[in-house]
Amino acid sequence: MSSEQSQSLSKTSFKFFGLGGSNEVGRSCHILQYKGKTVMLDAGIHPAHQGLASLPYYDEFDLSTVDVLLISHFHLDHAASLPYVMQRTKFRGRVFMTHPTKAIYRWLLSDFVKVTSIGSSRSLDKDENLYSDEDLAESFDRIETIDFHSTIDVNGIKFTAFHAGHVLGAAMFQVEIAGLKTLFTGDYSREIDRHLNSAEVPPSSSDILIVESTFGTATHEPRVSREKKLTQLIHSTVLRGGRVLLPLFALGRAQEIMLILDEFWSKHPEELGNGQVPIFYASNLARKCMSVFQTYVNMMNDDIRKKFRDSQSNPFIFKNISYLKNLEEFQDFGPSVMLASPGMLQNGISRDLLEKWCPDDKNLVLITGYSVEGTMAKYIMLDPDTIPSINNPEVNIPRRCQVEEISFAAHVDFRENLDFIEKIGAKNVILVHGESNPMGRLKSALLSNFSSLKGTEDEVHVFNPRNCVAVELEFSGIKVARAIGNIVDEVFGTLNQGKLGSINTSSDDAKREDLLDIKKENDEGTIVSGILVSDEKNFDLNLVSLSDLRDYHMDLSTTVLRERQTIHIGCKKELIYWHLCQMFGDMEVIIDDDEITGKIQESKAAHKTSTNVGELELKIMGDVKLNIIKNVATLEWSQGIMNDTVADSVMAILLSVDSAPVSVKMSSKSCNHDHHTNSEDDHAEHIHEPIGADHDDIWKIKQVARLCTEQFGDCFSYKLDEKDTTADIIGNITIGKTKASINLSQMKVAECDSNPLRGRIESILTIASDLIAPLC
Ligand SMILES: [Zn+2]
Ligand SMILES: [Zn+2]
Repeated sequence: MSSEQSQSLSKTSFKFFGLGGSNEVGRSCHILQYKGKTVMLDAGIHPAHQGLASLPYYDEFDLSTVDVLLISHFHLDHAASLPYVMQRTKFRGRVFMTHPTKAIYRWLLSDFVKVTSIGSSRSLDKDENLYSDEDLAESFDRIETIDFHSTIDVNGIKFTAFHAGHVLGAAMFQVEIAGLKTLFTGDYSREIDRHLNSAEVPPSSSDILIVESTFGTATHEPRVSREKKLTQLIHSTVLRGGRVLLPLFALGRAQEIMLILDEFWSKHPEELGNGQVPIFYASNLARKCMSVFQTYVNMMNDDIRKKFRDSQSNPFIFKNISYLKNLEEFQDFGPSVMLASPGMLQNGISRDLLEKWCPDDKNLVLITGYSVEGTMAKYIMLDPDTIPSINNPEVNIPRRCQVEEISFAAHVDFRENLDFIEKIGAKNVILVHGESNPMGRLKSALLSNFSSLKGTEDEVHVFNPRNCVAVELEFSGIKVARAIGNIVDEVFGTLNQGKLGSINTSSDDAKREDLLDIKKENDEGTIVSGILVSDEKNFDLNLVSLSDLRDYHMDLSTTVLRERQTIHIGCKKELIYWHLCQMFGDMEVIIDDDEITGKIQESKAAHKTSTNVGELELKIMGDVKLNIIKNVATLEWSQGIMNDTVADSVMAILLSVDSAPVSVKMSSKSCNHDHHTNSEDDHAEHIHEPIGADHDDIWKIKQVARLCTEQFGDCFSYKLDEKDTTADIIGNITIGKTKASINLSQMKVAECDSNPLRGRIESILTIASDLIAPLC
């Protein structure tokens, strides 16, 4: 491929399709399509809905086409419809999540099945249960895990997990298909809290960023003042004899709030009546998951790791907090603090306590998580006079309790989000996980922030699509070809310093098994040539040298040309064998009827017996076969640089052996051979060429040069000045990149950068010295 061609880049389109979580918070599910690959991100439910209505719009997409499904974290709005997808749809792809997510997911969803089936017995048909415990168990075993910072390649879809800082195990995924990189943040936080590190910025750039927009353009109060507010509100409520209800999602933020409260209780025992004000956490699930939190302490921040190291105890087992299995265990006698799930007060323990406590104005309901539109948690923040009873929708319960919101939701605020978006530097930003209004405000704020780039190459495009409305982006097919094998050494040698990264090229049209000759000039002006091999399945583009092709692409069906040449020879095969031995040293003897080589082994002779007509068959340098029957020599070899050269040499010997003077010499020396053939005698004149010192020297040089020309053809050149015989005559051999020079006057190799070639030249010189020595 020429460098001009690489300027004309073809376009390919990337498609984003939101099945849920677009212009809403809840039922997150996004589809990415590029180059025939389909990736699904998250499979959540909508917390404000129940049964099938809580699902993403799965009917709007053919789930059987999904190759890979990545789950960002265990929260229900991201993971709770996974068993449904895996067990009750045509989905056949592979599913990945991090180890802690998988560990918690199982506990969480079996709890979810229980809670929803209780709900369904009241208000839904039994058939509307999304899935059963059995579905959960069956699908669980098929979920694969991915380590943070490791990359998995599924048929050309490469994805890497990074810490998202949202909850334990929460991951961002950078997905790469055919060189196009998309970063999906999932829910993420850039704040270092009490147990988690903040979200990471992946080291490599991304073309597309799919980012949450939960808080839109809102800005969080500093962490310290939020913590102070929280503890003060709780403190003043229990002092006036009130009860505090903290509705929380069982895992994640609950542990963070507990770390804050446990510390506060330990520091202020007197003010809290020395243990008279209990803190409860009514979550069997959270208790069960404590071991998971301990197991993955190494994935948390330095603070919590240090606590764990120093005390050698689980930092999530709290001194001042007791777990309640259920509300029957709870004796409600005086002021207390109760953490209970679910966080959005839709049902379960937190809802029961809300209905019990909300008529009393001494009590406090403190919302610390993000509340989804349409849920009780969102509704109660409007300070309604009454709330409907979950068990009896006819009954309205008066609400007099105080309701406050202090957000500890681990989502970025505007400032943090903008900073992160700028760091990622993607030219295409797709907003998800946000209600329409905050999302719309964030879009405007981002556009005005990047307005200076408008109309330039670096313009930032921001999208806030609705569910089931596709975003299509065009990308030029810039690809990166990886140089492998000999080419790397070659380029490193040329550049003399490790400057080779990858070579940008474009080959959208390159089909699998398509080989394109490429010559591409890089900035330094070094020409790299090789074969560009494109694998359409994995989108790997490799630049390999011809000789490496079969080593690196064994799956490639390489065409092997077998060549055969037959010539008539006029001399004895003993002579040919002798010449070949001079040239190639040891050869494998396959057939030797007349036992002229003295090398035929019984075992070989046994399985390859000839027609008994004095056949000789030799294997030369591995793969070149020479067969001689009577006066017909047949040469057979598989085409290739090495074999072609060897075959050429053998052919040269066959053609010249009966005319080479050395043959006469050899024959005359070998007195045990009493049968001289005519052909040898015919050419005896060669040894009687001009006499005289200078002439003799020139004659000798000419003979050596002739032998070299026979061997190397056009690759050999030399210049002979017959008038000036004082300087040494140098012959040069250039075969591809290999060079050698021979001092013809002194009959030695002057320079040679290849050992095999040096060996060959030396054996030619040995023959030559025999040839030019005076006859005995
Ligand atoms: Zn979340
Ligand atoms: Zn979420």
